[in-house]
Amino acid sequence: MLKTHSCGELRREHIGQTVTLAGWVNRRRDMGGVIFIDLRDRAGKTQVVIDAGRSRAAFTAAEGVRSEYVVQVSGQVSARPAGQENSQMPTGDVEVLADRVVVLNPAKTTPFAIDRDDPVDETTRLRYRYLDLRRERMQRNLILRHNAVKFIRDFLGSRGFIEVETPILFKSTPEGARDYLVPSRVHPGKFYALPQSPQQLKQLLMVAGYERYFQIARCFRDEDLRADRQPEFTQLDMEMSFVERDDILDLIEALMVGMVQAVSLVPLAHTQFPRLSYAEATERFGTDRPDLRYGLELVDIGDIAGRSAFRVFAENVAAGKRVKAICAPGCATYSRKQLDDLESMARAQGAKALAWLAIQPDSGEIRGPIAKFFTVDQLITLTERLEAKPGDLILIASDSKAIVHNVLSTLRTELARRLGYTDQKQLAFAWVIDFPLFEEEMEEGHFAPSHHMFTAPKPEHIPLLDSDPAAVLSQQYDLVCNGYEVAGGSIRIHDQELQAKIMSLIGFSMTQAREQFGHLLEAFEFGAPPHGGIAPGIDRLVALMAGEPNIREVMAFPKTAQATDLMADAPSAVLPRQLDELQLAIKTKDKAG
Ligand code: ASP
Repeated sequence: MLKTHSCGELRREHIGQTVTLAGWVNRRRDMGGVIFIDLRDRAGKTQVVIDAGRSRAAFTAAEGVRSEYVVQVSGQVSARPAGQENSQMPTGDVEVLADRVVVLNPAKTTPFAIDRDDPVDETTRLRYRYLDLRRERMQRNLILRHNAVKFIRDFLGSRGFIEVETPILFKSTPEGARDYLVPSRVHPGKFYALPQSPQQLKQLLMVAGYERYFQIARCFRDEDLRADRQPEFTQLDMEMSFVERDDILDLIEALMVGMVQAVSLVPLAHTQFPRLSYAEATERFGTDRPDLRYGLELVDIGDIAGRSAFRVFAENVAAGKRVKAICAPGCATYSRKQLDDLESMARAQGAKALAWLAIQPDSGEIRGPIAKFFTVDQLITLTERLEAKPGDLILIASDSKAIVHNVLSTLRTELARRLGYTDQKQLAFAWVIDFPLFEEEMEEGHFAPSHHMFTAPKPEHIPLLDSDPAAVLSQQYDLVCNGYEVAGGSIRIHDQELQAKIMSLIGFSMTQAREQFGHLLEAFEFGAPPHGGIAPGIDRLVALMAGEPNIREVMAFPKTAQATDLMADAPSAVLPRQLDELQLAIKTKDKAG
């Protein structure tokens, strides 16, 4: 080794020892005759003192050194002079008095400072990711990620799980996204698909009798671009045989609690995760991934609003539509502009308008364009139901259930942000269960699975598959945290006939099903155990535990929101010879057509 100790290691007990350190020059100060260098490696920083009086050669070498040079220093560990200790640094009681300084490699001036957490444009950070990764924040995040994954491996290993790798070159697995395709050179015209998840393979491992499987699995989804999406991401993929839903929920809850307590920078809001049905979550919060760090719940006021003199409400209620409201504490004094902003957010979610009632802070008088359509009694019942007090603002949406929920959940999140509720450094986990088996909206005349097509219906709802498929509830469960879905899973169908039936409801003919999933359907004929699984998203969980808003901050080499790698310039064109080998030709889109 070119070093005897790391830069984070030296303490008082090392005083007097001769050591060799190697790392990067974090900072260099020339005090005339004495040069101070903070030498940095992954483990930390150590102050090195290069005194011309002690070693002229070391001093001369250090004179040419600049930030981010890679240097090796040998010298003696010494106590810092009294009063010059630095309690902010773990090595702050000591310094190394240099006898020898060797420049292992010089460095150009970096495009941004490494030794400070200055805001740097993300494009520059991603272009020079290897420099960005030197910074403390990224090191902290990647080390946290390592610790989280190690915790997971140890936890599951101790509970009888084994880690099995599954192929990256495989066949399309439906998770609702587009596949990334890889052309085969050996079989021209044929393609592998990168797995959207190892879903089929983990189910096949259950048929194979492995009973408890997990994998830190890379998944690939060619989805529409969104700020916090990545084309490839990591899941803790797992599957268990002979289990019921609660076995999986209990196990994952213990894993999450243990992991957060062991590695997270952000603490748990509660160690028992509440369980909400899909219906309850959407009624109370307008979404199936509610942020439970705060209330601001949606309250149904259809009965009151329907009897008011406001025609829109009365007509909507008569037509079976909904009227719901949320109460924003202390927001009665919102300006016209603040209200307009909220209204345009509501419109972006499909609302035709946003109604509001402001309870004046002093008088308690209720103002707002629609106030006059309500009787005093109606206003009293309404404010009581919303537990609204003087100074509060009530926002009301009326439309179809889906629109009302979209509108009010968006406003709920926005108000929470404005009110500072989302600044709370806590992780509020909850389970959402009892999802409908199918999405409400049909796709091209067919039902779309709400999770994926391998999810089992609740046994007591199987008869409904013939009479009222839309009413069937499934054995899907999602784990949510602070407004994110952090895991999704289900008890699976292990019966070939039931699987075929679901496939036909979602528009797969038996021939299509056999072509795409023949191997799975066939496997189910050879003794498939009852099984179920789940897949927590590692990137999001680590981001939450690191207190980072974006998953890119916890990935070593992420892509941009445009799915590009700015450092390596991917995706990029390939050589004509490579295309020839694959028997592929690029068809440029005819702009005119
Ligand atoms: N494969 C599923 C997903 O990626 C998770 C599961 O059902 O286990 O969402």
